[in-house]
Amino acid sequence: MIFHVLTIFPEFFQGPFDHGVVARGRNAGLLGIRIHNLRDWTSDRHKTVDDRPFGGGEGMVLKAGPLFEAVESIWPQRRPDQRVILLSAQGRVLDQAAAERLGAASELLLICGRYEGVDERVAEHLADEELSIGDYVLSGGELAAAVVVDVVARRLPGVLGNQDSAARESFAGGDGILDCPQYTRPAEFRGWKVPEALLGGNHAGIERWRRQAALEKTRRLRPDLLRNQDE
Ligand code: SAM
Repeated sequence: MIFHVLTIFPEFFQGPFDHGVVARGRNAGLLGIRIHNLRDWTSDRHKTVDDRPFGGGEGMVLKAGPLFEAVESIWPQRRPDQRVILLSAQGRVLDQAAAERLGAASELLLICGRYEGVDERVAEHLADEELSIGDYVLSGGELAAAVVVDVVARRLPGVLGNQDSAARESFAGGDGILDCPQYTRPAEFRGWKVPEALLGGNHAGIERWRRQAALEKTRRLRPDLLRNQDE
């Protein structure tokens, strides 16, 4: 899969994709990341990407023109599996199911808004969807784009190594509950002991403990995930 990111701060992405799982996926040729500078699609001397809002009010709004021209030049003949996503606090909130749906595309182009936001004609006539990473307002779409790339990339076939298989992760599997608590050495730290069930080699006992502990933690921290659970 190829991720395109359209931003006025391309330098923001020096780093976030150079470590861990995403970097491994890139190095293995399983995914590509292309960062595009929106100012490359301006025609004036100042490379203007924003303007004042019609109707008055605070701040500036990203203009539609450079965004349309950027997408149309990156994908002159856009296919249905090349999806344009506008990062927006007003979008549908990203979750694991959305990440899987996005992962079915061959290419994603993530538009990072700034200032007061983006001319609404981009949401209406250019983007396939508006996507939020949570009910709060960020200063720009760049952090959100980095989150989307990470979440979608780690679900792509082959990107996760065996050691960090996605099957057990929170929100995964058929039941969508939280992952079980994990411990590592030492078996006792400042008087706090690792649960006895994890210390022996009884695999069935370990599995039972993990399932119960995952349910208990989900009940305590995210009871909403248990709504349709058959415990
Ligand atoms: N005026 C907008 C509003 O109240 O909905 C907020 C604009 S925000 C300061 C600037 C940009 O940050 C947005 O255009 C969007 O690209 C990005 N952004 C802010 N919050 C976001 C969120 N929760 N998820 C994804 N992107 C977000």
